[in-house]
Amino acid sequence: MITAQHIRTWIHNCRTEIDGHADALNRLDAQIGDGDYGASMQRGLAASELALSDLSSNSLGELLQTTGGAMVAAIGGTSGPLVGSFFLRAGTAIGEVAECELVALASALRDGTNRVILLGGAAVGDKTMVDALVPAVDALEQAAADGVDDATAARRAAEAAIAAAEATRDVAARRGRASYTGTSGVGCVDPGARGVAILYGALASALAEPAIDLSTTNSNHLRRGQQ
Ligand code: ADP
Ligand code: MG
Repeated sequence: MITAQHIRTWIHNCRTEIDGHADALNRLDAQIGDGDYGASMQRGLAASELALSDLSSNSLGELLQTTGGAMVAAIGGTSGPLVGSFFLRAGTAIGEVAECELVALASALRDGTNRVILLGGAAVGDKTMVDALVPAVDALEQAAADGVDDATAARRAAEAAIAAAEATRDVAARRGRASYTGTSGVGCVDPGARGVAILYGALASALAEPAIDLSTTNSNHLRRGQQ
C-alpha cells in the first residue's frame, strides 16, 4: 500500500537527491542548453516541500497536486510546467484517497507522463525527459502486473529510467532548447531525463523504507533551513 507518508517521503527524497545532483545537472544542461536545469529543479522541489509542510491533508491526490502546483509556480524554465504538470495530473488521477495500491500509483504516473507528452509534444527518442518517463512507468506497470512488492517495483522503474537517461547520450535532440541552439547534444545525456531517473530513484528509496512521520518535524526544519 502507498500511503501519504510515502508520498511525503518521496518528495523529501526528491528534494535531497536533486540538491545533491544540482551542480552536475546544471553542467549537463550547460552542454546542451542554458545551464539552469539543476537550479530550477532545486528551487521547484524546495517550494514543493515547503508547501507540503504547510498541508496537513493525507489525501494522496492533494499531496501530489500541491507538489506539482508549487513546482509550476517556482520554476521559470521548461521543466517547471512539464514536471509540475506530471505531478499535478498524477494527483488528479489518484484522487482523494489516503492510501492506494501500487497499480493505482502506476496508473496515475502514466496519466502524468501522458500529460507531459501532450503539453510538450515530445515523443520517446526526441532526447527529453519523456525518454525516461515512459520506460519508467512501463516498468512500474509491468512490475505491478507481476505482483512484486512495491519497493521492488519502484526499484525496477528507477533502473529503467537510469538506463533510458544514459541512452539519451547517443541521440540528437528534436525538442527543447538543445534542438534549436545548434548543438544536437550527441555525446551528452539529457538533463531532464537524468532528472526523471533521480525522481524515480527517490520513489524507490521512499517505498523501500517503512513510512516515517515527517509531519511534525518538516515545517520547522524547512523554515530553519531557509534562514
Ligand atoms: P529551458 O532552460 O530550456 O527552458 P530546463 O532547463 O528547465 O528548460 O529543462 C530542460 C529539460 O526540459 C530538457 O533536458 C528536456 O528533458 C526537457 N524538455 C525540453 N523541451 C521539452 C518538451 N517539449 N517535452 C518534454 N521535455 C522537454
Ligand atoms: Mg535550461
